[in-house]
Amino acid sequence: MTRRNYDLAELRRLDVAHHLPGQQDYRVMRDIGGSRIIASGEGCYIRDAEGQAILDGMAGLWCVQVGYGRKELADAAHRQMIELPYYNTFFKTAMPPTVMLAAKVAQLLGGDLEHVFFNNSGSEANDTVIRLVRHYWEVKGEPGRNIIIARENAYHGSTIAGVSLGGMTAMRAQGGPLVPGIEHVMQPYSFNEGFGEDPEAFAGRAADALEQRILAVGPEKVAAFVGEPVQGAGGVIIPPRSYWTKIEAICRKYGVLLVCDEVICGFGRLGTWFGFQHFGIKPDIVSMAKGISSGYLPISAVGVAHHIVETLRDAGGAFIHGYTYSGHPTAAAVALENIDIIEREGLVERTATETGPLLARHLAEIADHPLVGEVRSLGLIGAIEIVSRKGTNERFGGAEGKAGPILRDLCIKNGLMVRAIRDTVVMCPPLIIRPAELDELFGIIRRSLDEAEPVLRAI
Ligand code: PMP
Repeated sequence: MTRRNYDLAELRRLDVAHHLPGQQDYRVMRDIGGSRIIASGEGCYIRDAEGQAILDGMAGLWCVQVGYGRKELADAAHRQMIELPYYNTFFKTAMPPTVMLAAKVAQLLGGDLEHVFFNNSGSEANDTVIRLVRHYWEVKGEPGRNIIIARENAYHGSTIAGVSLGGMTAMRAQGGPLVPGIEHVMQPYSFNEGFGEDPEAFAGRAADALEQRILAVGPEKVAAFVGEPVQGAGGVIIPPRSYWTKIEAICRKYGVLLVCDEVICGFGRLGTWFGFQHFGIKPDIVSMAKGISSGYLPISAVGVAHHIVETLRDAGGAFIHGYTYSGHPTAAAVALENIDIIEREGLVERTATETGPLLARHLAEIADHPLVGEVRSLGLIGAIEIVSRKGTNERFGGAEGKAGPILRDLCIKNGLMVRAIRDTVVMCPPLIIRPAELDELFGIIRRSLDEAEPVLRAI
């Protein structure tokens, strides 16, 4: 592959002078002299403008399922751009890849999740969810059902609706007032909130929090419950086995719509096409993004059960909602090709039967390290909890968030991109990762843990 030559010093100068990156501290970015410039990628590796290769343990931002440098995806975009780069879906019009992608996504979702609404990002998908759910109850003759329940420490996006639905305290503290009518209940994070508790008892307690809230709000006012099958950005929080079936039963009991945010879990991450399939539940609505196109172009979708669409069809009247780029044909063509690659290369099955179990074995080995309090994974998403005293969930410096960034920075220095969420180091490699690359990933983590230990003990 030919690589372009960049004037790195000039790029970093321009970055500080003009570019405001997402989710960043602008003083820090100024003080460090600008972003690290990532210039190219191939397979599971990214390469910065200085030429250093980094193993991408985060699949970009939880999204590059098929890895970097896939010519098939570039070709699909090129073909579609020449044929029809863009058109809209507002004028009783639709484009071939848009319709074909809707059918493909419906097939992968299965059951009665037969209909698909397109957006451009996970946040927008969740905006669509909020508007759709409330509109549905209005049309159904229960306009009082407009309260949506989500969970503390949930991440559902960065638009005002996404933040409102999300349960991250620091994020919610900025940019309010938020969208009204959204409640939050406890998350199923056993390492922090149920340490030492029997997992099934903890699952019962976490699910009961939903039932209690529904009763407190008044069941006739609750429109939907929204949750990620496995919380990603919250710290790869994998609920105990029975949590989701309990949640589903509670939703059914009170006629509350069940919404799964599959923005991270979707498209093979957990070893099934969607996370709800792993947990054996049947949501009414599913939001998805990221892995649908492996991040090559922005596109997201909301899968909607037939009974909801039937209600809208019977009532008539427009759903006055949609984006200029809903169903964007080039993004849809790339998504179709991406799904085709995932199918052709058997990446979902491989995650379930080979690479996921291998990741779990590596994690089990690293669990003996003195800094590691817990490891967990499902498919190709995993987490390592850093603790100051083995056998406990005590944190370095007496508070969460001190150790994680230190370990993350050492991993990056050693050639591995991972993320620290408080003191949880999380990983989510491309689904194409090979066993030798997983060996490398865990080699770097172990070396970084060893290097971190004296630094952390001195805190
Ligand atoms: N939902 C979940 C579960 C996510 O992880 C994310 C992004 N990390 C979003 C929604 C928002 O997606 P986007 O950044 O594409 O708006």
